[in-house]
Amino acid sequence: MFNASLKEIAAALGARKISSVDLTEQFLDRIGRLNGDLNAFITVDRAKSLAQAREADARIARGDAAPLTGIPIAHKDIFCARGWLTSCGSKMLSNFVSPYDAHVIEQFNRAGAVILGKTNMDEFAMGSSNETSFYGPVKNPWDRAFVPGGSSGGSACAIAARLAPGATGTDTGGSIRQPAALSGITGLKPTYGRVSRYGMVAFASSLDQGGAMGKSAEDVALLLNVMAGFDARDSTSLERSPEDFAGALAQPWAGAAAEQPLAGLRIGVAREHFGAGLAADVAEAVRGALAEFERLGASRVDIELPRSELSVPAYYVIAPAEASSNLSRFDGVRYGYRAPEYRDLLDMYCKTRAQGFGAEVKRRILIGTYVLSHGYYDAYYLKAQRIRRLIAEDFARAFSRCDLIMGPTSPTVAFPLGSKVSDPVQMYLNDIYTIPPNLAGLPAMSLPCGFGAGNLPVGLHVVGDYFSEARMLKVAHHFQRATDWHLRAPKGI
Ligand code: GLN
Repeated sequence: MFNASLKEIAAALGARKISSVDLTEQFLDRIGRLNGDLNAFITVDRAKSLAQAREADARIARGDAAPLTGIPIAHKDIFCARGWLTSCGSKMLSNFVSPYDAHVIEQFNRAGAVILGKTNMDEFAMGSSNETSFYGPVKNPWDRAFVPGGSSGGSACAIAARLAPGATGTDTGGSIRQPAALSGITGLKPTYGRVSRYGMVAFASSLDQGGAMGKSAEDVALLLNVMAGFDARDSTSLERSPEDFAGALAQPWAGAAAEQPLAGLRIGVAREHFGAGLAADVAEAVRGALAEFERLGASRVDIELPRSELSVPAYYVIAPAEASSNLSRFDGVRYGYRAPEYRDLLDMYCKTRAQGFGAEVKRRILIGTYVLSHGYYDAYYLKAQRIRRLIAEDFARAFSRCDLIMGPTSPTVAFPLGSKVSDPVQMYLNDIYTIPPNLAGLPAMSLPCGFGAGNLPVGLHVVGDYFSEARMLKVAHHFQRATDWHLRAPKGI
């Protein structure tokens, strides 16, 4: 079952070819064998997972199974799950057992899915390589000397190494899509507001968005069906009627015939996505994918995203500003880590934060506090917000001429562990293509489209207009029916 799609697993469960308990045990055994090396999971809890699996089996026996009932799903350790350690990859929360469920976890529980474990991540989701985790780096299953991407690197690795059939992630500036690209899987960040942020540890609240990671667009659609939905406890949650993201995947693009299922689809290609900084191997794989889309009937439209080069600097003002505010709650008083020795209250705050946060998180808090401080607010923070608006306008203009925008997800394939840790700017530049959709609140996904240097995977980035997830997934599904990049698994896996 390790290579099976969610639909195949659901069919096997429904036909009683396997029970949820057996299935969950098989994945737990596999995690037991491989996680010591890959480090994709921070927490597994056999007893808890199997208890949920038994409930799922009873529900299947009663005949009221939902599509994901009985299927074990891995959750990024940023989602609060009742009774589970929810560390967010940080020493600060290394003793935090959540007393409640995030909305996303509630939805998976309601669907009867099994929590397989909590996946490793960059500390507080700050990073692009999973190397800032308090729990140590995650390895890329395609080559263990390389990073899996981040910050949802544990979830990406778990899917790529077939340790989990599906996983959740979060994406503030690329944390679902960049690790999906570097690990050779499919991942989607929905429109901002689609997935509730309730119970999702906050990094930069105006950018954070939960999403799904899986082996294929079809699997991602099934996961998104469970995750998405209005939640009154998140003030930015969008009240929209439920959509079935998986229902219409196989249908051709509006009006197209079966032989050329994507006829009529206009793909926007931006010059800015193929300029300096893009590695030749990535460019070649992406161009190959674009040619495949043309074979499927799509046409190409040249578009411009002139302000996209401003996105990284704007993001690294806005995201740290919000983070500095969000992370002020970690003071050693109410929950989480507290320094063991201190003189007085102020000393306790200082020592707790000095000991509990890692270097990257401290860097962001310092930058964020600085750009929000009197005298710098207008020069940095307000200016960044204006750039954000301009970037959203660029996209709006582009979407008047095309249906989807395609390009590379990341400028390079996975890089060696340790190679960028001492150069934050190089690390930040990894997200040059993924950050603009977060700034605009647009949905975006990455899907496998080839291999580059060192036989490492390349991701194709697909950006859609607001609420176009169903269309994006359909287009991705047609690509995956015509190609087999997404079916390739790392050697020895
Ligand atoms: N890599 C980016 C950062 O470090 C994005 C992280 C994310 O999307 N959570 O902020």
